[in-house]
Amino acid sequence: MRHIFKCPKCERYTMQEKCACGPATETAKPAKFSPEDKYSIYRRKAKEDARKKEGLI
Ligand SMILES: [Zn+2]
Repeated sequence: MRHIFKCPKCERYTMQEKCACGPATETAKPAKFSPEDKYSIYRRKAKEDARKKEGLI
């Protein structure tokens, strides 16, 4: 079984336990994203969009 890691900083996938950019990588869980995580990303994006709109108006 291959271990794929993901860098929390630059979000690159790697086979190394440490990314070239510095931090230790986290184990990537392929195709097992929890719906909660997905929604939190959407929520964060929505907030960013709202902030951008507020800044533009
Ligand atoms: Zn990195």
